[in-house]
Amino acid sequence: MEFAFRSRANTFFGAGCVRGHAADWILGTRAFVVTGKSSGRKSGALADVEAALQANGVPYGVFEGIGNNPTLDQCREVAALAREARADFIVGIGGGSPLDAAKAVAVLAAEDISTEQLYKNAYTSVLPLIAIPTTSGTGSEVTPWSVLTRTDLQTKRSFGNEKTLPAAALLDPEYTRSLSRRITLDTAMDAFTHCLESLMTNKATPVTDAYNYEGIRRFGACLLALERGELDGVREELMLVSLLGGMSIAHTGTTLMHGMGYPLTYYGGLTHGEANCAVLPAYLALTARVQPERHQHALQALGMGAEELSAYVRRNIPLTLRITEEQIRHFALQTMLQSSTRNMPFSPDQGDVETLYRAAFDMAIS
Ligand code: NAP
Ligand code: ZN
Repeated sequence: MEFAFRSRANTFFGAGCVRGHAADWILGTRAFVVTGKSSGRKSGALADVEAALQANGVPYGVFEGIGNNPTLDQCREVAALAREARADFIVGIGGGSPLDAAKAVAVLAAEDISTEQLYKNAYTSVLPLIAIPTTSGTGSEVTPWSVLTRTDLQTKRSFGNEKTLPAAALLDPEYTRSLSRRITLDTAMDAFTHCLESLMTNKATPVTDAYNYEGIRRFGACLLALERGELDGVREELMLVSLLGGMSIAHTGTTLMHGMGYPLTYYGGLTHGEANCAVLPAYLALTARVQPERHQHALQALGMGAEELSAYVRRNIPLTLRITEEQIRHFALQTMLQSSTRNMPFSPDQGDVETLYRAAFDMAIS
């Protein structure tokens, strides 16, 4: 499959799209590439980007070392390198972590602004950003959001607006062949939760609904192969699910499941996908109550009931973390401060969130 379309970011999908569409993404005279410790190389994306830049005579620098759940501090250091290299555009390669870091680098390399200004989206110029995902999960390549770890606040926080939306997104499913089964599953669950949560937001539109039901339907067709580890046949589909979810949350944002997941990542060390899956069974019980029609249509599209889906998640991504009552109160307070909490179709209070955390962890034990 191969196609190109333009929504808010110029998006190119298909094997070989990085080299094939070089003219569409080489948007400056000096590039700075931001990637993870190994994802750029293992996926083959870094080699393709370097080949395209060299073929077009564009000098470039590379930073290969963005960590998982990247910190704002690291992004500031990398932005200083990009400034020194006098880069006029940024290429992000990797999972959500390097792509989100690349967005912060694109802002901070253009203007070394304070953290407060950054989180108010008070930037005027941002270097053009090209985003090349190597996981099928976050959809960060088509969203404006940059989710960074804030050690000062002891949590993760996002910033972003139309200026941090990548100028081009290049999605080549071949880059995900080097992913392990576990990371494939973990990131695919993230893509699915984007579609599910976007449907439940108070910002859903008929267009995002169409993306989301289609994403969920395609994801449902991959569940068996994912569980069996027969991944090569579903890599293309999973990247499409990730794209559809990303295009939707770019418009709607996520909801409580993501908001509740961030403390589980920060304090509990769960990956982003694991954190969402920890909350998913309790979230499904909530959506059955507050959005019954959408809940039912989503599960119909998936081809699986809520109990079956919860069992699938617990079987494939077991929740071994345990949390105390004190942590529940603390995590609920943190969740209340997340913007995603305000996207729910009702206004949850701290007690509601505490109840959901208890339900999620009780459901893991029973
Ligand atoms: P990730 O943290 O980017 O990567 C997870 C692991 O996968 C890393 O160890 C990475 O290796 C490895 N990896 C990535 N691609 C690979 C490949 N092709 N082959 C082999 N290994 C590969 O995971 P992610 O789930 O994609 O991103 C999670 C982050 O995105 C979180 O910080 C989350 O908050 C954020 N997020 C952002 C949005 C958004 O809209 N911006 C939405 C959802 C989530 P290396 O580290 O060695 O490179
Ligand atoms: Zn996510």
